[in-house]
Amino acid sequence: MTADVLAEAADWDSRCKQCGECCFEKIEDERGNIFYTRTACRFLDVVSRECKIFERRFEINPSCIKLTPELVQTLRWLPRDCGYRRKHVEPAAPSAKNKKQKHSLRTIPGK
Ligand code: SF4
Repeated sequence: MTADVLAEAADWDSRCKQCGECCFEKIEDERGNIFYTRTACRFLDVVSRECKIFERRFEINPSCIKLTPELVQTLRWLPRDCGYRRKHVEPAAPSAKNKKQKHSLRTIPGK
């Protein structure tokens, strides 16, 4: 890995404010609205908001999502003030599919 690649990765990672907001389960309603629950990922220290398994999170928790510049542009459930999202994404309009769904909620796990 080159110094430029390492610097770019460090810059990307530094955008996380470590607020832990994304580590709570979310629910999406039939209109595509996202609601955060008070259920945290079991590996989140809810007091310090630090991930207890950060260095090995993808190995230990396969449902943890690695945020990339490309992925952040597609995720509607990141908080508006997420350090990654502020730079890359504006809220997307609900899709036609979401508008057709009635009375359905889906749970989005904490990342
Ligand atoms: S919501 Fe964004 S800034 Fe906050 S912990 Fe998650 S990735 Fe980091």
